[in-house]
Amino acid sequence: MFLNSKWGKMTIAGSILTTTLFSTSHPTLASAGGQAPDSQNTNNSEAIAMGNTKNPKNVIFLIGDGMGPSFNTAYRYYADNPKTKEMDKTAFDNYLKGTMRVHNDDDKENITDSAAAGTALSTGKKTFNGAIGVDNNKQAQKTVLEQAKESGKSTGLVSTAEITDATPAAYAAHVDDRDKKDEIAKQFYNDKINGQHKVDVLLGGGSKYFGKENGNLDKKFKKDGYDVVSNKNELANSKSDQVLGLFAEENMPLQIDAPKKNPMLADMQQSALNKLEKNNNGFFLMVEGASIDKTAHANDVTGVMSEMDGFNKAFENAMSYAENRDDTLVIATADHSTGGMTIDSGEEYKWNPDAIHKMKKSGAHMTEQIAKGEDVEKVIKNGYGFDVKSKQIDKIKDEADKLKDVKDKAKNEDDPKIEKQQGKLQDAIQKPINDKSRTGWTTYGHTGEDVNTYAYGPGSDFLEGNVDNTDQPKNLFDFFSSDVTSS
Ligand SMILES: [Zn+2]
Repeated sequence: MFLNSKWGKMTIAGSILTTTLFSTSHPTLASAGGQAPDSQNTNNSEAIAMGNTKNPKNVIFLIGDGMGPSFNTAYRYYADNPKTKEMDKTAFDNYLKGTMRVHNDDDKENITDSAAAGTALSTGKKTFNGAIGVDNNKQAQKTVLEQAKESGKSTGLVSTAEITDATPAAYAAHVDDRDKKDEIAKQFYNDKINGQHKVDVLLGGGSKYFGKENGNLDKKFKKDGYDVVSNKNELANSKSDQVLGLFAEENMPLQIDAPKKNPMLADMQQSALNKLEKNNNGFFLMVEGASIDKTAHANDVTGVMSEMDGFNKAFENAMSYAENRDDTLVIATADHSTGGMTIDSGEEYKWNPDAIHKMKKSGAHMTEQIAKGEDVEKVIKNGYGFDVKSKQIDKIKDEADKLKDVKDKAKNEDDPKIEKQQGKLQDAIQKPINDKSRTGWTTYGHTGEDVNTYAYGPGSDFLEGNVDNTDQPKNLFDFFSSDVTSS
């Protein structure tokens, strides 16, 4: 592959140039201590490959929520063509820059959540778990999206979660608690920069925070010139440069489970790019593969691979946008890792992604169906793509019966016993595929390891080696507040 071979060569050349010929810091990269070779001494394509000649005009920032390093490796196995002897590289592999530290600054918990990590990535301030765009003193901090808007760029947020969820919220809202979703949606509408709405393109789930329960924000956006859309077709036909697209009441369904009318992550990203690129001053777009995390919390390897695939497609799409230009920085990284997923469990030295390919629905979806009262046999038949052991089927039926029981006896829907029993049902549903694929898990929560960073384009050089999550916005602030842009 073209970039593949060139990349290897240029990385070496780039590091020699950086340490010998051009050792002075580029002024706009100063805050990360990044060093940039002088573009005059390299031809254009080399300059792009080295990725650090000028400030990017456009930034596409992709966040795989919960995408720890093992997820990237697992996806390489999963995506590999088993008919060829070699293990194929993924799109990510060609653009690995280094790793990123993701710890938070919280008195009680030293493993980050998506709110604290999102705030570190958006503002450059480490903060407490649950914080959205505020520091440890609960003071609002300017985000890179807000800086981009201030500098006359267009802005977008795309997520498979509710668009008010922690990661997108951290870029355009300021609240002390991630659960204040009504308030977050209100800030999306009410907060203005130079008299304009902060975010031009908002695409994801979470319609319940924009309807009449929360002040008809959708209607207000529409009145202000936004297209308001709710399916793939409407999004494709949207003509306005500004759009509010809400494709589910809460989180969007996973790629493997979604109805055809739903846009995939890459579809939403492409629509966003079509609109944002009309601005001659450039754009900032954050794209989140949110349900990598959400399915990892449920130890749902089918869901994780479904969403890794969706995120990979979005990354490939971003790369094909950026590859033939010299003005667009693409970064793909994660906010933290989730679930402690391991590639193989037991002692056979054999992980089996083939079993995951055979799955017809995610475990999370099956759990939801059964919890809603669907026939258990039917859900099992339509969900697994292989024969499940009768003992495991009995266990699922048993937990489903118990859930029905707990629900009948519960005083209200919020009874914690329901959630607890639903967790047991979920475990019973995930067990056959985790066993068959030999996938290991250590927790239903987050884990603290460094994550991978992938990048391409002008300014990507600053991510080489091991960086901190707060270095990301420091560099973006420099790019956006400076008028030195490549054209
Ligand atoms: Zn999470």
